[in-house]
Amino acid sequence: MARYRSAPAGEKLRESLDRLPGIGQQAAQRISDWCLYRNGGDDLLNALSAALSEPLCSSCRLRFDPRLGASCPLCAEFSRQQQPILVVQNTKTAHLALESGYSGGMFVLHGVLSPSNNVGPTQLYLDTLFERAQLLVPRTLYVALESSVEAQVTLEFIARRLPAHQIIAWDVDQLPHLIRERMHETG
Ligand SMILES: [Zn+2]
Repeated sequence: MARYRSAPAGEKLRESLDRLPGIGQQAAQRISDWCLYRNGGDDLLNALSAALSEPLCSSCRLRFDPRLGASCPLCAEFSRQQQPILVVQNTKTAHLALESGYSGGMFVLHGVLSPSNNVGPTQLYLDTLFERAQLLVPRTLYVALESSVEAQVTLEFIARRLPAHQIIAWDVDQLPHLIRERMHETG
């Protein structure tokens, strides 16, 4: 009698998908089946490979369109002005800020401190943020994180490490309004 054993690379794919945030075992199985048996895999592979090849700015931690030049347009613009840095938790908030007319410095954490998920200051590249903060005039950071205990801990950690800076917490839900107000103040 023939014995079936699941193919090992497919098994690894399911495990990798299961580790993605918010996926879980059942969804990992469905996505993996879609990739391997319903021709979704090639599209996904191409899209992922293309997205990963786009340059990642080491200063703001956003990927940018290489057709616009060799360096990140956001940080190139920022270096010409002396403006505060806006620290955000994810690309969703970064895009919301930019769409709302924000034009200062940006830093994307891609997460918050979470010891139980092995996310520490290194994973969030906080040293890069602290180095950039030392060059700021005025010494102001806006921090717009989602509301959670971990986000609050992250905000406090940043404030402790930058005692000479003014750290202003921004409510993500109020972001467009806060940005309009700030842009109005600074002209
Ligand atoms: Zn940048």
